[in-house]
Amino acid sequence: MLKLYNTLTRKKETFKPIKKGEVKMYSCGPTVYNYAHIGNLRTYIFNDILSRSLTFLKYKVTHVMNTTDVDDKTIMASQKNNQSLKEFTREYEKIFFDDLEELNILKPTYVMRATESIPDMIKLIEKLLGKKYAYKSNDGIYFDIAKSKNYGKLAQLEKQKSSKERVVNDEYQKESKSDFALWKFYKEEDGENKWKAPFGDGRPGWHIECSTMSMKKLGETIDIHTGASDLIFPHHTNEIAQSEATTNKKFVNYWLHGGFLTMKENKMSKSLGNIIILKNLKEKGFSPLDYRYLVLTTHYREQLQFSIENLTSAKNAYQRLKNICVELKDDKKINKSYLEEFTKTLEEDLNTPKALQVLWKLIRDEKADGKYQTIKKIDEVFGLDLLKKEKITIPKEIKKLIEERESARKSKDWKKADELRIKINTLGYQIDDSSKGTMIKKISG
Ligand code: AMP
Ligand code: ZN
Repeated sequence: MLKLYNTLTRKKETFKPIKKGEVKMYSCGPTVYNYAHIGNLRTYIFNDILSRSLTFLKYKVTHVMNTTDVDDKTIMASQKNNQSLKEFTREYEKIFFDDLEELNILKPTYVMRATESIPDMIKLIEKLLGKKYAYKSNDGIYFDIAKSKNYGKLAQLEKQKSSKERVVNDEYQKESKSDFALWKFYKEEDGENKWKAPFGDGRPGWHIECSTMSMKKLGETIDIHTGASDLIFPHHTNEIAQSEATTNKKFVNYWLHGGFLTMKENKMSKSLGNIIILKNLKEKGFSPLDYRYLVLTTHYREQLQFSIENLTSAKNAYQRLKNICVELKDDKKINKSYLEEFTKTLEEDLNTPKALQVLWKLIRDEKADGKYQTIKKIDEVFGLDLLKKEKITIPKEIKKLIEERESARKSKDWKKADELRIKINTLGYQIDDSSKGTMIKKISG
């Protein structure tokens, strides 16, 4: 029985999908105006583990993720760069999906760009205007939160008074409840970025993008919606208000929020200027999967404090694990008891640190059979390529040394051959001579 922590009730609940055996899930995607930092990427690893776990538990998962390719930040950044919004955002979108691929994050079933659903957003806003949940002001169309039943339930805002202030910008660090923009009328600064609408040309606000795309692809009520916890308010709070005002139906049954990646005490964020991107880690000699392993060692709702020391220990543990796994022989059996234990840890609100412990226990259990096939199943969730033998690319200078050693061996100059073997060794490669020929392996560490 799968249990998930639902932010809406602040409780771990038994997961009951709307339709038996199927899950409809939406994840807030990136705003594509810059590189995603490894904090953002932690959240996409969490989405991936969730979606892989649901599939592992035999649900048919339909997973939708958006890319926010129009908002204040994307428009401003594209103009600074002298590029059209489309040209500019597509570049960052590509980099983002390359990062996901390197992290073994499976592509969601559907990826939707905000700019490709604008007519649907306009229809939704018209409905809200018709139902008097929205009103027109001089700079845009706003959602009137005073009309909304249970506004702020997700963020537990009961105690807070609503203010009549309006929030125009798309930033999400806003402290108080306020009417928010569904649509922003065109201003000169927006340049060429405007869309025609019956209530006035302009562009959508950020929150309406996700409500529209979720309902368009997955229907009025869905099973799961995800993001990191900074999205609870106002983004997800506002998504609920506008969606439920439109349909009179519950928008989402389970809200799942991931914890932050922090640098010392602070959240990693572009505005604090303390960001690290995947490329930086690779330049320091870490692989994307070393980072994925690090993320799995912490429960998704906990804060994860990043440091090079933490990442180094994750890398070492991952290398040790992988070195053992790639040597395993396939006895074509599944170890049912370990697989069950592993499944139970997932069912407990995706407890990946515990699930990793089960994997290590299995590895160390000398009497256990079925290791290969069981680890293969486990890796369907972890996505760590545990059984994949790396194709090593041998650098030119090493190749040259190998050839020299071969010819030394042919002319029976054992001393020279031995010296060369040692030299190759000190450069990080190990040579094994077997009946099948000479094998070369990279020494990990
Ligand atoms: P953005 O591209 O800024 O809209 O953010 C993309 C995703 O990353 C959202 O789900 C955010 O909630 C999430 N996020 C932002 N900062 C962090 C962080 N430091 N740790 C984990 N997730 C984060
Ligand atoms: Zn969203």
